[in-house]
Amino acid sequence: MFHVKHGVSSYDVIVVGGGHAGTEAASAAARMGARTALVTLSRNTIGAMSCNPAIGGLGKGHLVREIDALDGVMGRAADAGGIQFRVLNRRKGPAVRGPRAQADRRLYAAAVQAILAEQPLLDTVEGEVADFDIRDRRIRGLTLADGRKFTTGTVVLTTGTFLSGLIHIGPKTTPAGRMGEAPSIALSKTLRDAGFSLGRLKTGTPPRLDGTTIDYAALEEQRGDDVPEPFSAMTSMISTPQVSCHITRTTQAGHKVITSNVDAAPIFNGQIGGLGPRYCPSIEDKVIRFGDRDGHQIFLEPEGLDDPTVYPNGISTSMPEEVQLAFLATIPGLERVRMLRPGYAIEYDYVDPRELKPSLETKRVAGLFFAGQINGTTGYEEAAGQGLVAGINAARLASGGEAVIFSRSEAYLGVMIDDLVTKGVSEPYRMFTSRAEYRLTLRADNADQRLTKRGIEIGAVGSGREEAWSKKAAALADARALTASLTATPAQAQRAGLALNQDGQRRTAFDLLSRPDVEFANLIRIWPEMDRVSPVIAEQIKIDAAYNVYLDRQRADIEAFERDEGRSIPDAVDYDSMPGLSNEVRQKLVRIRPATIGQASRIEGVTPAALTLIMAHAKRAARG
Ligand code: FAD
Repeated sequence: MFHVKHGVSSYDVIVVGGGHAGTEAASAAARMGARTALVTLSRNTIGAMSCNPAIGGLGKGHLVREIDALDGVMGRAADAGGIQFRVLNRRKGPAVRGPRAQADRRLYAAAVQAILAEQPLLDTVEGEVADFDIRDRRIRGLTLADGRKFTTGTVVLTTGTFLSGLIHIGPKTTPAGRMGEAPSIALSKTLRDAGFSLGRLKTGTPPRLDGTTIDYAALEEQRGDDVPEPFSAMTSMISTPQVSCHITRTTQAGHKVITSNVDAAPIFNGQIGGLGPRYCPSIEDKVIRFGDRDGHQIFLEPEGLDDPTVYPNGISTSMPEEVQLAFLATIPGLERVRMLRPGYAIEYDYVDPRELKPSLETKRVAGLFFAGQINGTTGYEEAAGQGLVAGINAARLASGGEAVIFSRSEAYLGVMIDDLVTKGVSEPYRMFTSRAEYRLTLRADNADQRLTKRGIEIGAVGSGREEAWSKKAAALADARALTASLTATPAQAQRAGLALNQDGQRRTAFDLLSRPDVEFANLIRIWPEMDRVSPVIAEQIKIDAAYNVYLDRQRADIEAFERDEGRSIPDAVDYDSMPGLSNEVRQKLVRIRPATIGQASRIEGVTPAALTLIMAHAKRAARG
């Protein structure tokens, strides 16, 4: 039923789409004080996980922690719905550790819906957005397929894989946004008509299995961490029951099933044109491209506590249904498995993200923002991160405020958005820790230290988190001051069991903590007052101390980087009248219109000489 709480059809911000980008955008805009509507095809699918039932991982886990630090939805929902938590790369340094949780699909979506329901300024509306009202290059409102009209000055579009979505299962093609859901065709046309440059990408998902027909006895069990580590700073402990996953492998017999049916594979026979995610290839891709491998690992992941469905991670496919069945029967443990739903590939329209400013507002239409898979990314976390930033900026624009930009030196959110709007995409974009220049600073463990204060200043953080953060910040400051003030000679340290150079130099407790073999517990023997530091704060101080020496070295790089980011380029700069630029570079600058000298420097082909020219023109344009 159509439902408008305030009896009006006019909103400060309207978010289109209730996926991972849309829910973060809507929640952020409402938290910022904007009267917000979330318009989506079906209320029931708000927060739905289209593919794998898991949140986080390497790089992605960092994004979830940053979203949480800004009081977003994803971390809290994953904590409520998580049924197996594991910190990946635990044996490596904290900078590259990635928190991950397997989630119960239903619990996760229910948690997202419950978090949204807490927002008094947020309405949800069921319907298909079919058209935009754009006049004088500015968004004025939108129209639903059933004729209802809404007026607004700011829209965040987050339609995921739905724009002209087309599902492939062998030779069968079905127009759809996800399996069983209609695609969004009218909106693709609206965007084209408005002049946006659209491309085609694809992604895929594996068949779903009936877990009661899997022979687990033969398979290796994978358990979660003994003590699950929550994503959210607001979660004190995980109370959802935890389950195990199992591991199996593809076999030579299975590879043969695929190679002998390669002509029926839509990704090889020309049926699919869109490019898929390189880091998440289909099983036919893996077998044809890495055919000499004797097997590929498959994680059998339960989709829920009260749901027998199992997600076989690692074998996404769009082969014909009968080939999928024959292939499954060759896998140890799956010999008698029942397939609940075949795997499929989906092709969809995306918009070139170079159409966007770093705030995620489009350059073409004022007040119109894009976030999520529509911008050429893949993954829930990437979508959610963009949704959060677009929602914050939509609310800021609606209230006449300045755009909020996160820089590459501050957050993975900044790295991702800068990559998208500066370089565009040629394949679905996924987050990796290797994309960040300053990853020793941008750790998953310190996301709140990096971002929550800023979140409070811009109004994106609610009072509950603000209070929790101020307590934690005070405890951190106290522990830092304490560890910096206590000093010991090497002889004193040795008496407490620490082997140091006997150089007579006094060292602070903080210095001692930077050594890999020194923990808080060792130091309490020297300084009993350190016992007052809680275990959570002690762990954080230990990590900060361990990284301090590297961070000192990185600080100069970050300062130079931030200087360039601080040099803005006015919109009025006319690249066509700038002598000394090659045509290729000029075209790129006109298209991307970098917001800062820093962003310009990351455009391929822009030389130091070109930067000097741009800087001179920027100064002139700024003077008017
Ligand atoms: P979605 O979660 O797709 O949400 C889109 C929302 O928009 C939906 O709520 C829909 O109802 C709504 N909507 C669409 N059109 C309209 C309209 N006109 N009016 C109103 N509402 C509308 N990611 C990975 O990282 N790894 C994978 O292996 C992977 N495989 C995938 C396989 C498949 C088959 C699919 C479909 C997706 C896969 N993904 C994968 C991607 C992941 O699901 C997405 O990245 C993520 O869900 C994108 O979030 P989003 O918010 O941008 O869009």
